[in-house]
Amino acid sequence: MPEMPEVEGLVRYLRARAEGLVIAKARLTAIAALKTYDPPLDSLEGSRVTGVERHGKFVDIATDGGAHLVFHLAKAGWLRWHETLPATVIKPGRSPIALRIGFDDGSGFDLTEAGTKKSLAVSVVRDPAEVPGIARLGPDPLAEGFDRATFGALLEGRRTQIKGLLRDQSVIAGIGNAYSDEILHAARMSPYALAAKLDEAEVDRLYDAMRTTLAEAIDAASGKPPADLKDAKRRGMAVHARAGEPCPVCGDTIRSVFFADTDFQYCPTCQTGGKILADRRLSRLLK
Ligand SMILES: [Zn+2]
Repeated sequence: MPEMPEVEGLVRYLRARAEGLVIAKARLTAIAALKTYDPPLDSLEGSRVTGVERHGKFVDIATDGGAHLVFHLAKAGWLRWHETLPATVIKPGRSPIALRIGFDDGSGFDLTEAGTKKSLAVSVVRDPAEVPGIARLGPDPLAEGFDRATFGALLEGRRTQIKGLLRDQSVIAGIGNAYSDEILHAARMSPYALAAKLDEAEVDRLYDAMRTTLAEAIDAASGKPPADLKDAKRRGMAVHARAGEPCPVCGDTIRSVFFADTDFQYCPTCQTGGKILADRRLSRLLK
């Protein structure tokens, strides 16, 4: 799943490639992916792209017609850029392509989604804040005003496990399962630590780890074409999706835990004082 750094990479790529181009066609092939009906999708045709922005994990393409094309790639969605858009007709329901956008210079992109569970979401709106997922977003952790005090205030009084809190888009925008694993590893902190119970030194460490991890990942993603972003993400991971491999910091074996709806990874020596965390799924099955 693309998270803030990969989405930022996509945004920068689209800004460089598509800004100033006119949308020549907008074709929806996965009907369920479009979440809005007014303005209609085809109202984008003939509009010039005036800007591309990121809101959390959402991409927002603004046009001079006043409409914004906003999309969220969800778990299995991706963007495929074409220097020359294929002329083939896409058959609805038989292709991973959910939406095709063509520009007046012959280039364009497809939004694709693998798998059977479809959750890629496209909106055409006059204001990005009309998208409920954007309206709900907490602050962006790399925004200028997001300082240590802002972060501390967000954690205050929350008796929530830090792993879940970092992923909660209404608290902090853009972080998902992968980067929360990386941030917690960099901060040498247990995923089960309660936000409200962190002391000042721990909040300092977590804040620094979050800013550094995300900034480094965005640097790695910047300037890469969309096709290379997934590999760049995988290469940058110290613990996420690396269960069984040695921790790059201490050499201990990286462990995996099933929690809530997903698997996550951590290093016992770096993060939990050597303690192996209980696998919630396993203990539930054994009851
Ligand atoms: Zn370690």
